Amino acid sequence: MPQPVSSIGSPASIRPSLAGDSLEALRTRLVGEGLTAYRADQIFNWIHARQTFAFQDMTNLAKDLRQRLDSAYSILDIQAERRVRSQVSNCEKFLFRLADGARVEAVWMGFEKRSTLCVSTQVGCALDCAFCATATMGFRRHLSAAEIVQQVLWVNAQEGLQVSNLVFMGMGEPLHNYTNVALALALLNDNRGLNLSRRRMTVSTAGLVPQILRMTEDDLPCKLAVSLNAITDEKRSRLMPINRKYPLDALFAACKKWTEHSGHRVTFEYILMEGVNDGPDDIRGLRARLSRLPSKLNIIYYNPTDRGFTSSGEAIYQRFYNELQSAPFPVTLRQNMGTDIDAACGQLLVKEERREAQA
Ligand code: SF4
Repeated sequence: MPQPVSSIGSPASIRPSLAGDSLEALRTRLVGEGLTAYRADQIFNWIHARQTFAFQDMTNLAKDLRQRLDSAYSILDIQAERRVRSQVSNCEKFLFRLADGARVEAVWMGFEKRSTLCVSTQVGCALDCAFCATATMGFRRHLSAAEIVQQVLWVNAQEGLQVSNLVFMGMGEPLHNYTNVALALALLNDNRGLNLSRRRMTVSTAGLVPQILRMTEDDLPCKLAVSLNAITDEKRSRLMPINRKYPLDALFAACKKWTEHSGHRVTFEYILMEGVNDGPDDIRGLRARLSRLPSKLNIIYYNPTDRGFTSSGEAIYQRFYNELQSAPFPVTLRQNMGTDIDAACGQLLVKEERREAQA
């Protein structure tokens, strides 16, 4: 089991959160403080299975133990500073303030048969994709496993927002924060806790090839998505500089290994931007590349930022979708959600920071 990476630039919380401890880590921590493993199991059950976030409510623990825990630890030490509900789709955005004052976003999306939470894994991002609002923040720090898990616990605790599926697709590149993301996945997957199965959790990467190979070897309990957005190295390197380091051949070879090992398809995400990646050559390139491995394609609406890109028109989305219907892989046109709440990753926070700087 990997060990947590300390959060660079994040002073330790006065009362550290127990939300990121696996059952084994919690036993080690609390047995080291003179409690029994059985007590640790009870506390883990309260937090992750019963989702109780106040030690005082853990009624099968002695009162003085509850007080002792409360003075030494917290469970949820993140707070939603803003919560914005979409007026046009069943979608809500949260701006979370972390214990050290850093902020990240999460987006909840309600569908007919599931509800999906998109969580953040870093404050800012180092990868500098040309179309992304988060990229303008630069990299500030990794989130701890506790901070990742808490986004799920916090949203789950809200009336009517039970989370059934998770996507690691918010602020940050999840595989750049590999160790803490792996810890969070293991914890969320634990059948003694939230028990989110592998098919309900998806990690989306911009294409960190060594980490895709590592997650294959480690058999992380999640599905793999790749933010593709262009099908030639020249174009993709302009949009996503990480492609210069790990070009398409290397990326697709790593994805193929993951599919062979996991038995699942890789999901490729393709955000359509007007005049950039929405032409007939792009359709041909997608068909050729994605046919070579078990894959599926999500065509995604671009939520415009102020980075100089605009969304392709509706007719182009439909043409893309229709022309790829005969491809030997499934294609979906992802519902356009949250345009009125700055739902794209980083949009709301970047706007907030600008507003505060001008105030
Ligand atoms: S798109 Fe994702 S990987 Fe690229 S800069 Fe934005 S957050 Fe980072």
